[in-house]
Amino acid sequence: MTEHGEVAFGNARIRYSVVRSPRRHKTIEVTVEQPGLVTVAVPEGTASERIEATVQRRAGWIVRHDGATTTPPSPRRFVSGESLPYFGRSVRMFVHPVDGGDVRIRFHHWQFDVDVPRSLVGEQRYDVIRSAFERWYRVRAQDRLPARVDRVARLLGVNPTAILVRDQRQRWASCSPSGTLRFNWRALMAPPALLDYVVAHELAHLRVRAHTTEYWAAVAQAIPDYRQRRERLRDVGPLLVI
Ligand SMILES: [Zn+2]
Repeated sequence: MTEHGEVAFGNARIRYSVVRSPRRHKTIEVTVEQPGLVTVAVPEGTASERIEATVQRRAGWIVRHDGATTTPPSPRRFVSGESLPYFGRSVRMFVHPVDGGDVRIRFHHWQFDVDVPRSLVGEQRYDVIRSAFERWYRVRAQDRLPARVDRVARLLGVNPTAILVRDQRQRWASCSPSGTLRFNWRALMAPPALLDYVVAHELAHLRVRAHTTEYWAAVAQAIPDYRQRRERLRDVGPLLVI
């Protein structure tokens, strides 16, 4: 019997088969055999949670190599079982119909519990839940970003003056000459390593405005492997949507 698993990342779904081998020692190898066919070779006794975590971590790479069975965007319906990305992880949502008038989102143990008033239907239901999630991400961004910005700013010896969270469709972040950083709230959906790259990218502009060699040297001072992170962000970026 073949062992299967499935991982969601944003709107993409990755189904994989597990091949256990007693001859394999420590490493887990993920391959895309053909479009939509992902194989994970693992040592005999590997826990399925660890296999799933590995597939999740490599989701960007798998999607880039056509390993996802459905590609985005499939319209979100906000029903139990769907998931949204947060800090690079796929967070499953459970929808609870309630009699009250407000949509409430609770996040705990990497799960969303969403109270949705029964009176909401159709497009209105979609819009109200979507806005509630956007607010949720914005609050998280405002809460989480300052510490990350501080840490990287110290590494680069720069002093940003303000951190704002915005709805920027075309970019992850921007930085004004006066030191105001503006972040797209969707950046909180990205894996932390990629978010740190976004942070470093903007802060390095406080040292060098243009994307010159000198500028990228500044980025590398905070993020030595910035090239890989930049590439991964390009890969997973399109999946980071509500
Ligand atoms: Zn730039």
